[in-house]
Amino acid sequence: MTEPTEFKWKIDEFADIQILRYKVHGYNTLSNTKKELLYYLYRAALAGRDIMWDQNYRYNLYIRHVLETIYMKRPDNWETSDNWVGFIVYLKRVWLSNGIHHHYSNAKFAPDFSQEWFTEQVSNADIRDPPPACDLVSIVFDSTVASVKVQQDTSVDRVVGSAVNFYQNVTEDEVVQFYIEHGDDSDEPSPVGLNSKLVGGPHGVVEMIWSVNGMYASAIKEICVWLEKAIDVTESPQQATSLTKLIDFFKTGNPSLFDMYSLEWIKDTEYDIDVICGFIEDYNDPLNRKCSFETVVTVRDPEASKRMEALCKDAQWFEDNSPTLPEHKKKEATGVNARVVNVVMESGDASPSTPIGICLPNSDWIRKEHGSKSINIDNIINAYDAASASGGGLQEFCSSPEELDRAKKHLEWISKISVDLHEVLGHGSGKMMQGVDPTTSLKGYSAVIEEARADLFALWYIVDPKLVEMGIVESYDAAKSEYDSYILNGIMCQLRRIKLGDDIQQTHMRQRQMIAKWLYVNAAGSIEKIERDKKTFFRIIDYEKMRAGVGELLCEVQRIKSTGDYETAEKLVQDYGVKIDPILHAQVLDRYRRLGTKPYSGFVNPRLSLTGIEFPDDFAEQMLEYSRESSTLPDYNTRPLTIYVDLEIFIDSFAMRQMVAAGHTVITADNDTVFDQPGYLVSHRKFNTPETITLVPFGEGPDTLLRDWSEWYKILY
Ligand SMILES: [Zn+2]
Repeated sequence: MTEPTEFKWKIDEFADIQILRYKVHGYNTLSNTKKELLYYLYRAALAGRDIMWDQNYRYNLYIRHVLETIYMKRPDNWETSDNWVGFIVYLKRVWLSNGIHHHYSNAKFAPDFSQEWFTEQVSNADIRDPPPACDLVSIVFDSTVASVKVQQDTSVDRVVGSAVNFYQNVTEDEVVQFYIEHGDDSDEPSPVGLNSKLVGGPHGVVEMIWSVNGMYASAIKEICVWLEKAIDVTESPQQATSLTKLIDFFKTGNPSLFDMYSLEWIKDTEYDIDVICGFIEDYNDPLNRKCSFETVVTVRDPEASKRMEALCKDAQWFEDNSPTLPEHKKKEATGVNARVVNVVMESGDASPSTPIGICLPNSDWIRKEHGSKSINIDNIINAYDAASASGGGLQEFCSSPEELDRAKKHLEWISKISVDLHEVLGHGSGKMMQGVDPTTSLKGYSAVIEEARADLFALWYIVDPKLVEMGIVESYDAAKSEYDSYILNGIMCQLRRIKLGDDIQQTHMRQRQMIAKWLYVNAAGSIEKIERDKKTFFRIIDYEKMRAGVGELLCEVQRIKSTGDYETAEKLVQDYGVKIDPILHAQVLDRYRRLGTKPYSGFVNPRLSLTGIEFPDDFAEQMLEYSRESSTLPDYNTRPLTIYVDLEIFIDSFAMRQMVAAGHTVITADNDTVFDQPGYLVSHRKFNTPETITLVPFGEGPDTLLRDWSEWYKILY
């Protein structure tokens, strides 16, 4: 497909964030039916966006409304006012994090504008009344209110100490007790509690289920509307079955049906388009049970798929010609079908900050007995690479103009092929000696040894003439850029993500430093260290010698894995992969600081229609568009209740609209008039599915007559 030659990768930056865009290879070659399928999944993703905001903190949706309303009234010359500048950075940080807490550190943002100024903006703006017990000013300005999103400190009550909206009025002990009583301790346990909020009240602890008939009803209904449309245009019967099961889960809220869905989802392998949609990751819950909403819509990368097919076809050749010992080679090599995809749309937990690879489902028994599906998100990796290349990192760390030039020309493409070799052939290669289980024998070093093996396999072949012959790699010179960048990243660049004084903990970072450092020390005459203008550089002086080193280490790492040699594994990882030279580390951090590189990234998504795709380049605009056109939840969310009101006070009031919007059935005290049609709502965009809302009996029925707004809160809790 043709792309504009100068694609703008980075479109915004603020605080510690840069905002990037990503390309979608292969969209234009899709059939119209597949584009239609993508569009419906895109709409399902948008419909769920609000859920993550509310899950992160129960007043986030209201705060977003307030901030966006103020933002819309900014004066033309806002840049001349420190308060406005501070406010807009604050709002952008809130957008990036789906709420008022940092997406990574979990700490609440400190506003960089004055309380007085803010109060004035609030009173001048046309904003809705706050939800029950929501004190806007103290939420924004008081650092002791909702200070941490997820409390990890086990010496305090993590449930009470977390602002995340999975629990309310309950203690950690009560939550633990609740799931001792209601959990599933069978051999194939269903993920009880993954889709609910626990609330303590006069009637004990109540579980508010997130479903079509529960909390978040209006959003989940809308998700189902779009998933149902998607089913009509699925690529295969298996894909339709999988989506049908997902809708069953959303409709019933029954967690065991989520497992049933996952079982169908992993069977669905013959597709171009795939979707992850639901309550997926549990790391926002201090007790790791409640899951955050996310959607990731992907399309198979056709170029990568072609490359993978070609590599798979020749898998045996690659196995036979690798430098490993004959007894450690596979007799029938096939290649692994790891999937390389492009994301087309992400929402919730996966957006604007996104993962680069996903392996699901999370259910242990399903993984063990039925396997899992894993994807590499190629276009996000590309966007990161392209942005860091243009961010001055290459200029700063490349040892020569020649090396820089080669990287600019070839690195984006060559690193993709390297990932393919790693995933498709590397992980699939090699043979275990009889009776050896590497996970058991290598213990904590099993993952790093396996990843090192796959990396080394890729490094061994990336410079092989065979790939040039196959038409996959342009030239030997192009392939050299992968060697340059591997050494650069492994020994220096990746250290920028680690705090000075810390060891390397993350698996991939360990294997990269281990390989790069081992080669520097052991592949004699291949790599030299240069000191220039008080800066350190690493330069490859002999690529063939480096390759020989790669081969030697690959053979050794394969032997370690095939024989389960724990002692050597430990020594190799500890000697080369864990410790960092503190002087070099400080230098790297300093050089990045001077470059002004931001440590975190967010992404704007493309905008899809039934037949086309656009790539917006304004982060704020996209956030406003989503809130304006795809907002599906009211400011405040609870489970649906039947609420009896004094009509004279409540008719057409904001409180009543909120109650109906939240899915409650509102009945007048004399039982005459029932307000249960979402169409009643006027302050909120479209709820065009006027199904009758299920009545959930609560408390004493007609006795719970509402007389004023604040009582609503009291009745619910
Ligand atoms: Zn890997």
